[in-house]
Amino acid sequence: MCLVRFFVAINMIKLEAADLAAKIKEEVKAEIERGVRAALVAVRVGDDPASAVYVRNKIRACEEVGIRSEQHALPESTTTEQLLELINSLNTRDDVDGILTQLPLPAHIDETAIIEAMNPLKDVDGFHPVNAGKLAMGRPVFVPCTPAGIIELLDDRGVEIRGANACVVGRSQIVGRPMAQLLLQRDATVTICHSRTRDLPAVTRTADLLVVAIGRAGFIGREHIKPGAIVIDVGMNKVSDVDEVRRLFGDEAEKRLEVVAKRGSTLVGDVNPAEAAEVAGMLTPVPGGVGLLTVAMLMKNTLKAAKLRRV
Ligand code: NAP
Repeated sequence: MCLVRFFVAINMIKLEAADLAAKIKEEVKAEIERGVRAALVAVRVGDDPASAVYVRNKIRACEEVGIRSEQHALPESTTTEQLLELINSLNTRDDVDGILTQLPLPAHIDETAIIEAMNPLKDVDGFHPVNAGKLAMGRPVFVPCTPAGIIELLDDRGVEIRGANACVVGRSQIVGRPMAQLLLQRDATVTICHSRTRDLPAVTRTADLLVVAIGRAGFIGREHIKPGAIVIDVGMNKVSDVDEVRRLFGDEAEKRLEVVAKRGSTLVGDVNPAEAAEVAGMLTPVPGGVGLLTVAMLMKNTLKAAKLRRV
């Protein structure tokens, strides 16, 4: 058993996504330079530091590719009605192609009402029920950026999705559900797991392709992973506890502890990378994996929105 683990460990491929993300952004940039005008408006409410970072990264990506961007940072006290008013005005502005409302919104705002108020043709996140419905019917227009990026990565690496046993852990509207739909569309046999799944490891261990999006630091360990499986880690969690960092990062722990010393925490996904390295065939790193593709796909969706409305 040890020999098998050792053999697999030295062969595990890290599915780094930086090159692919750069390539996707280059392709968007080339189209913008050929004359497609595109504009994205990002709306953020409140002072959540993570949301501020995500929006900043998205605006920076717009600058890189030449998409015009605008940011509305509204105070925590903003009401649902005030936000609806802003969304309605963005819906009618001809110079706006894509609208992005950074989630989560503060608890007092009716998130569903905000998502449903968005013009589906400007819904570059793909969260509007019209876009979710079209995806479920196999006629996607705007696909949520994270699962769309994961499909791009699998295709880029030549992973055979057709016929694979795929397991998606997590059933959120923004990752788990659309991910399962996309895999089904590509002829995988798809199982969706969630917090009520009985004997999770027994189910996930049947998967050739395991996508995890649950928001629990290093939760998925060696017992969840079929030897040789391709594991896509969507999670983005912060850890600062020294013992936890050692448990999660094995040989790379010292490097991560330096990050903790400098910044107070380090990022980890929902998969325990040290344990996954013993059994998985491929694993997306955190950071450096899925997160980069999410931003790149947002650029691609915004370009698509502009072309649908203007070309
Ligand atoms: P979410 O809305 O909180 O949903 C979490 C899902 O995980 C739920 O379906 C929940 O099941 C399930 N779950 C929770 N604990 C579980 C357990 N012990 N066993 C099995 N299933 C469990 O999360 P999300 O928005 O999809 O995000 C998930 C993670 O991905 C977070 O870390 C988030 O930061 C990250 N994320 C990253 C990116 C990126 O670009 N890299 C983008 C989006 C999200 P129930 O439905 O039964 O409650």
